[in-house]
Amino acid sequence: MYCSRCGAPNPDQGSYCVRCGAELALAPPGGPAPASAGGPPAPAGPAPAASASAPVTPAAAAPGAAAPAAPGAPDPADAPNVVEVLIPYKNGFALWSYYLGVFSLLCGLLLGLPALVLGIKGLQVAAHHPEARGKVHAWVGIVLGSVTTAATLAAVAFIVWGSLARR
Ligand SMILES: [Zn+2]
Repeated sequence: MYCSRCGAPNPDQGSYCVRCGAELALAPPGGPAPASAGGPPAPAGPAPAASASAPVTPAAAAPGAAAPAAPGAPDPADAPNVVEVLIPYKNGFALWSYYLGVFSLLCGLLLGLPALVLGIKGLQVAAHHPEARGKVHAWVGIVLGSVTTAATLAAVAFIVWGSLARR
């Protein structure tokens, strides 16, 4: 037996190297000897098992991975898209138009008109930069803004007309 650390020859039954004192139990002879004896069967068993399971796993994984990959690929792509559709943070005009349009339902003309204008700008941004999204938000802003603007103008006109007609 030779020391694995310093290479000095040692008696086979020795547990420590006579030259450097390294432990010989873990020494190479133990490894190679059993490996050559029981090694081949053991690796042979695991090897076929591994090779058998290896093809099976890739085979199963391949369709499995391919199937999820196809839906999975759109999914990661869809996930950001959904977020961007819900909140088109890249299209500030559309987003602000949306918010102003919604708030204009409560506040009327002051926000409805800006919502309309910003919605149009948002649509332009969405048209020039489709990746910015926000078309839906822009349209919501435009619709709500125009509705509230029209309603407010109608109300104002009605009030003005009423007050004028009263005279
Ligand atoms: Zn040694």
